[in-house]
Amino acid sequence: MIEPLTRLPDGTIKQVNPFTGTKVWTLPGRGRRPIDRAARAPLPIDPADADRICAFCPGRVLETTPEIARLVRDPATPDGWREVRGLTAEEVVAMPAEFRLLPNLFEILSYDYWHLTHGWEPTVAMRARQQAYLSTPAGREHVGRLARTRMDARDANSRADKPLSEADVEREAVGLFAGNHLLVVARRHYEPGAHVDSLLRGSGRLTPEEHWKYVEFTISAMHGLYRDNEHARYVSVFQNWLQAAGASFDHLHKQVVAIDELGAQLEREAAQVARDRDLYERWGHTYADSQGLVVARTSTAVAFAGIGHRFPSLEVHSLVDDRCPWDLTVDQVRDFSDLLHACHAATGVDVPTNEEWHHRPPSLDLPMPLRAVLKWRVSTLAGFEGGTKIYVNTISPWSVHERTMGRLRMLAADGELSERVQLSGTTSTR
Ligand SMILES: [Zn+2]
Repeated sequence: MIEPLTRLPDGTIKQVNPFTGTKVWTLPGRGRRPIDRAARAPLPIDPADADRICAFCPGRVLETTPEIARLVRDPATPDGWREVRGLTAEEVVAMPAEFRLLPNLFEILSYDYWHLTHGWEPTVAMRARQQAYLSTPAGREHVGRLARTRMDARDANSRADKPLSEADVEREAVGLFAGNHLLVVARRHYEPGAHVDSLLRGSGRLTPEEHWKYVEFTISAMHGLYRDNEHARYVSVFQNWLQAAGASFDHLHKQVVAIDELGAQLEREAAQVARDRDLYERWGHTYADSQGLVVARTSTAVAFAGIGHRFPSLEVHSLVDDRCPWDLTVDQVRDFSDLLHACHAATGVDVPTNEEWHHRPPSLDLPMPLRAVLKWRVSTLAGFEGGTKIYVNTISPWSVHERTMGRLRMLAADGELSERVQLSGTTSTR
């Protein structure tokens, strides 16, 4: 194993990611530049429009695909939340939900891909949901409209004025109700009562409890894809925040995507961890701790400044490495979620970010913890990198650590973080 961090006499820091081998250099004198999005004057918004800003907003639910499930608040349940499935289009419109699970209209791997490559068929539950949804007038109209959009997107010669046949709607509906690329969409675009457009409701602006439910709902969606499609070897989970990070809308959502391979990186890591079963512990949080990079902990998870990423990054690792994410206990998920929430809150809603999850898929019996990498998509130097595969990252892990610690202390003082989160350098009061 190559030493992940090396400091040179002039202050240059060479990083090698212990899991991917990505090489990143941080050159001195650049680390203190501000990373927040170039501030523009916030524009006023009319609070009456706050639920109709984009297609993910609760006032425009029929612009997205037919909803699979939703999380709503329900004081009658032990934890105050309830999952609801099988709503008609009329019912979806009638009530907002805190989080919604939907198929992506333009999926990375389509139903045809899974069906024609692997012979995969929709489950009985998917067929039943399709039938029920199409049985009401609003559902029928909704699916017809989406069928048209999908056909137009595929075929430039599609005749928008030509009425859809029953067969067209049926065919497109199968794909719409048998999606293997899902979205988990949060309710609000802006903070409640926001009057300017800078008050976006990003991950760090949810309450720790809301964020925990968001993570739990996402894990359950991931589990569902593995369960319903035996050809899904891996389910990728990620969150692009803000358009500069690849998001279609500045409205909080995660993507959950099944693929039929583990992918080159996971295959390499699996071989590595088979030889070195402590890989993630030793080269993850233990090494980060030895370098003074840990920012916070909970009972079963650690957050630290990441090493060897193309963008300045924070990582959250669960300490539980012997199970798939859906087998974690409620407390273990909460421990992971609360740290991820704290990292988002410390990063700030103005910074474009990618959040990438890594986990143990069911086909691998290896110690692989659930972990998330939160990448700050701030500008980096370019040109040099394509030829050398050495990336220049302007902010060192220690600068990420320092900046994050400063923000976390303020957030903790303001009571914005979960009580489970213990900041680095403080002693537990619990
Ligand atoms: Zn929106």
